[in-house]
Amino acid sequence: MTNDQLTFQNPVTRYPKIEPPKQDQPEPGLDADLKPHADHGEDTYRGTGRLEGRKALITGGDSGIGASVAIAFAREGADVAIAYLPSEEEDSQRIADLITKEGKKAVALPTDVSSAQNCRDLVEAAVDELGGLDILVNNAGKQIAQESIEDISDEQFDETFKTNIYAMFWTVKAALTHLQPGSSIINTTSVNAYLPSPTLLDYATTKGAINNFTKGLSQQLASRGIRVNAVAPGPFWTPLQVSDGQPKDKLPKFGTDTPIGRAGQPTELAPAYVFLASSESSYVMGETLNVNGGMPTP
Ligand code: NAD
Ligand code: MG
Repeated sequence: MTNDQLTFQNPVTRYPKIEPPKQDQPEPGLDADLKPHADHGEDTYRGTGRLEGRKALITGGDSGIGASVAIAFAREGADVAIAYLPSEEEDSQRIADLITKEGKKAVALPTDVSSAQNCRDLVEAAVDELGGLDILVNNAGKQIAQESIEDISDEQFDETFKTNIYAMFWTVKAALTHLQPGSSIINTTSVNAYLPSPTLLDYATTKGAINNFTKGLSQQLASRGIRVNAVAPGPFWTPLQVSDGQPKDKLPKFGTDTPIGRAGQPTELAPAYVFLASSESSYVMGETLNVNGGMPTP
């Protein structure tokens, strides 16, 4: 591996500045159809045994950020269950194959997390198939850009909240009976929690809620030996962005207004999740780890 995460290199030039062509995919998008393709660490993430024997459930683990986390967790020694929508079978199969190639168990669980019962069933299925659970990554997300609050339908507002924050509540509640001391919950939030994009009013509001939920819950669970943290990505090149997550005219310049000057590739997020999942972060609780190419955060 020449471009792995452990090699000394210039972060500015580690990946090229991409200029994605205008493109549209129905929601949720597929990594398989993303132009240009993103790096999930397939050829670049090097494992060092940091999650040996762990059992992880990752929602939205079929593509983008969740896929890069799934690959990294498997290379660090974990068995991994991924949840995704049924239309994402192609992406999920590719990631499941990569997990299996590491000699780890891959469990594929097509589930719409915008319903409470589905979240409960998801956790039970993951626990059954993995033989337990000690890492929960709440990463599934819905992001539909709209110019004005008047363009956000009541249905969109409701679905965004159900997918992004209600699902987190339902999934954590169901998982708690299975999580032993030493377990880790990691929630994907966003730089939008502090710098809300005017075109992402509903989405950004859920991300603010996720930060708050993470900090409150971490205090509840600290004495039980369960750590809760969040990762806040900046602009990462994933299918979310082309399935109406961004206004189309913004795509060619996606990520270039960051101090680093380029969009992130999903695998550049994986080490943050590995760190928060593993015991090396035993004293880290209620933290939001920002991985955003240098944008200042509170
Ligand atoms: P992505 O499209 O690859 O992943 C999002 C996933 O969410 C999809 O793969 C899908 O499986 C899942 N999902 C959506 N609705 C669902 C539902 N109802 N039920 C079950 N699963 C559902 O895009 P991504 O960018 O990797 O997004 C992952 C997370 O990262 C999201 O929470 C997103 O808000 C967050 N995030 C992304 C960026 C970015 O720039 N890409 C920035 C900040 C935060
Ligand atoms: Mg997907």
